[in-house]
Amino acid sequence: MGNLLHRLITDLGERSDYDAASQCCRCGYCEQACPTYVVTGDETRSARGRNQLVRLLIEGRLSDPASAEDALHTCLLCGACTAACYARVATADIVLEGRRKLTETPHRLARLLTRLLAEHRGLLMLLLKAANLAKRLGLTALARPALRLIGLPGLALAEEHVREAPLVFLEEVLRRRPAVKDPRWSYFAPCGPNFLYPRVGLATVAVLESLRGPGVFMDNGCCGLLAYNYGELDDARAMARRVIERFEASGSRGPVVGDCSSCTAFLKSYPQLFLSEPDWKVRAERFAAAVRDVPEVLADAPLPELAGLPAFTYHDSCRACHGQGLQTAAHAAARRLAGSAYRELPESDMCCGGAGAYAFRNPALSDDLIQRKAGRIAASGARLVAASGTSCLIQLAQGLKKYYPECEVVHLSELAARALAQGAKDGTPAGA
Ligand code: SF4
Ligand code: SF4
Repeated sequence: MGNLLHRLITDLGERSDYDAASQCCRCGYCEQACPTYVVTGDETRSARGRNQLVRLLIEGRLSDPASAEDALHTCLLCGACTAACYARVATADIVLEGRRKLTETPHRLARLLTRLLAEHRGLLMLLLKAANLAKRLGLTALARPALRLIGLPGLALAEEHVREAPLVFLEEVLRRRPAVKDPRWSYFAPCGPNFLYPRVGLATVAVLESLRGPGVFMDNGCCGLLAYNYGELDDARAMARRVIERFEASGSRGPVVGDCSSCTAFLKSYPQLFLSEPDWKVRAERFAAAVRDVPEVLADAPLPELAGLPAFTYHDSCRACHGQGLQTAAHAAARRLAGSAYRELPESDMCCGGAGAYAFRNPALSDDLIQRKAGRIAASGARLVAASGTSCLIQLAQGLKKYYPECEVVHLSELAARALAQGAKDGTPAGA
């Protein structure tokens, strides 16, 4: 089917990728919202610079297409520009079309990982467990120089940044849950909570049980976001179809809840993958309408205030606030949980520089962003910060250790689970 979408679903309706890029009138209104422009002051690293480059690329008028490489690959895909833009120009999707146009062959590591995720999940789990065991024994750190030497500096950096190394994955724990007759929700396990942060997934499931009663684990595969961002669209579509089939077979009439905002935002965007397949588009729309991110679930939930919380603040994961419009919902939940411990975070909606594999591909820019974020968190006086995306958890954990070690990071679900367990112990259970 080719590796370009050609048509995008934008906030102004379905458009060709060219029309979507042309919708940018280069007013520059979004520049101060764009993290890469803010920290570099470089016009080609702003939304209008990137939209212009993609337009020229599609017109075939870029004399040296490789010159667009840096501009397109330094975009965080955070969506802050779209949120600030009066015309709601879909820059992140336009940039991805530009990247796919520039690079015929997908990134080799992303391709390998996608293949493993899609077709050899058992082998991937075995390899990850071996790597995690080696990490626990301190052996993987020894491999960093070799990885740099063979041209895989990103992998060396990933090894350094990722601190968690579980030997039992979330899906293995959740599969042991007893069968449920009339499920009121289904849980979608994103790869982050599944392979890196099982405690996050377990917290989300505990929250859902407490707030909504019994539900089921979808026993899903990868949502396809990795393939969409770095690999091949056909792989992303194949993964999306499998997820939709799982949802349809789950028998749940309630929402599908996921706890990585990048993944839930992508699940909601599935219809865009199937614009030329009407049957699948209808199924994707039905599925997307059922998807909820954690901040949505918690927005109006009767959450008790957590006792004994240190000064606390909230970082908005980009794909929650810009991608799904959940900033108000997330802050409302965070405020209720923290009570008087809550502190406002200036620039809470500016990307921390995590952004999937961005931190490993653009280490210098990513470090500028996390240094700025850690500085804002330190200025708020917080000793605990929460977020709702896997990349944010990884990036904040390593960045805070480096720039503000007095502060720790948790997922919003973890705080909610603690509060609900505490409320139940105190005799104030949550209502549905
Ligand atoms: S993306 Fe929107 S706000 Fe930014 S320069 Fe283009 S039209 Fe203006
Ligand atoms: S998606 Fe983010 S980094 Fe990319 S142009 Fe928009 S604001 Fe800038």
